[in-house]
Amino acid sequence: MPHLPRLPLVIVLGMLASPLPGDPPASAPAGGEPDSRPNILFIMSDDHAWQAISAYGRPDGTRVNQTPSIDRIASEGMRFDRFFVENSICAPSRAAFLTGCFSTRHGVPTNAEVFDGTQPTWPAMLRDSGYRTGVFGKWHLKSNPVGFDDWKVLIGQGPYYNPPMITPEGRVRIPGYTTDLITDQGVDALRRFAASRDEDGRPFALIVQHKAPHRRWDPNPRHFRLYDDVMVPEPETLLDDYAGRSPASTLQTMTIARHLDPRDLKLIPPPELDETQALAWNAYYDDVNAAYRAAVESGELSGDDLTRAKYQRYVKDYLECVAAVDEGVGRILDELDDLGIADDTLVIYTSDQGWYLGEHGWYDKRWMYEESFRTPFIVRWPNRIDGGTTSDLLAQNIDLAPTLLDLAGIDAPERMHGESFADHLRSGGRETPAEWRDAVYYRYYESEGPHTVPKHDGVRTDRWKLIRFPEVAPDGDGPADPGCWELYDLDADPDELKSLADDPGHAEIKAGLEARLEELRRQYDA
Ligand code: CA
Repeated sequence: MPHLPRLPLVIVLGMLASPLPGDPPASAPAGGEPDSRPNILFIMSDDHAWQAISAYGRPDGTRVNQTPSIDRIASEGMRFDRFFVENSICAPSRAAFLTGCFSTRHGVPTNAEVFDGTQPTWPAMLRDSGYRTGVFGKWHLKSNPVGFDDWKVLIGQGPYYNPPMITPEGRVRIPGYTTDLITDQGVDALRRFAASRDEDGRPFALIVQHKAPHRRWDPNPRHFRLYDDVMVPEPETLLDDYAGRSPASTLQTMTIARHLDPRDLKLIPPPELDETQALAWNAYYDDVNAAYRAAVESGELSGDDLTRAKYQRYVKDYLECVAAVDEGVGRILDELDDLGIADDTLVIYTSDQGWYLGEHGWYDKRWMYEESFRTPFIVRWPNRIDGGTTSDLLAQNIDLAPTLLDLAGIDAPERMHGESFADHLRSGGRETPAEWRDAVYYRYYESEGPHTVPKHDGVRTDRWKLIRFPEVAPDGDGPADPGCWELYDLDADPDELKSLADDPGHAEIKAGLEARLEELRRQYDA
């Protein structure tokens, strides 16, 4: 056998490998050359707890619902188990997903600011490189979408029924159930974009963003009875007393026990119902509400029992809203199959942040605790990713923009704080980036905002989480300086019930994390 020269393995592989769909082109295609870049279909819901996706479920293995269509993305793709947001609130997280930047740079640290759409975003940059782009559904950034060939978005939060929407041509009011309407718009756009790709070869990046299951969790009548005969499992911390931590968690106003209002509990119908919708609404909720009022007035329901009853009402409405989202995802996946473009379309399902399904006694988000800090993130890309893959990469919403730009063969601008995990996707999860963050930074800005969650920032590593509340005094009173710390061992205490911040045995770990936190603040201009 003749002696063969030994070549470095990487060169041999390079010689043998033929281009696969999704390999970045040397440059943006032009002049009639076929564009082999993948289509991108980004589906984001609002406030969808990962615990309310059966592909995830609660950490103890409990499933509170079934989401067969979202699960399909996971069973045919990759589920990220440690995907975090940089600021657990709607508009800031949406801006981070779009720009790849922390709240410190994208200009929307709270829900109050107007997003500057002229800054670089992944949809606008993909469009400049030849992609056809569209966004349908919730936008929630106060300024109109920039960088899209086609768009139709809700105004602000948008209602669950008969939503007014803004289009490039002006305002329209569309009768129907908002989640279903957004699905319809997504399916229509998918058909148009796929047909256009057949004609001109341009791949597409389509964004479908649901209002659901955001407060106030108004279900579609077809789902009113979905959980009638079910007791949804309670989280172990539903009746949390907040002992063992700093006073921070006692300062919020987001408890199921005391802060759900009559609209939240469906004692009052949504104001936007038309006559037919109102009939269906009253036909269901009148009886339910009469029984609830009678039980409260007679004293039959009180104390912890009342909290448990409110939890059932709240969580069932929430899960019914999730059911419409899941059905919509199923319709979109079926459409991809019917169009024959599923194999080379990257499908992402995520939420703008996580959410409390009764954990710590709460609804809402905002905290750096795992339920709201983590968000679901599931990717399907049949040409590259084997079904049923999971990833433990410490990823964050700021990574989406650099990742999608990388997949499209575009250099990410310097200003983007996030990192590309495109190779992780291209390798079907088999390759983990050689240099990747070992810690995630988080910051929440709004002590005076809704639900009065005190502002905080912190660092999370593989095992530890350190949080600082600069405006919370250690004794819950008096001047805040130097604020409060909380330290959690996530392996030993996944529910984050026992802070180790004042434990002398963990002083060294705390000091190390404090130093890391200071580094991250500098890295992210915080
Ligand atoms: Ca949200």
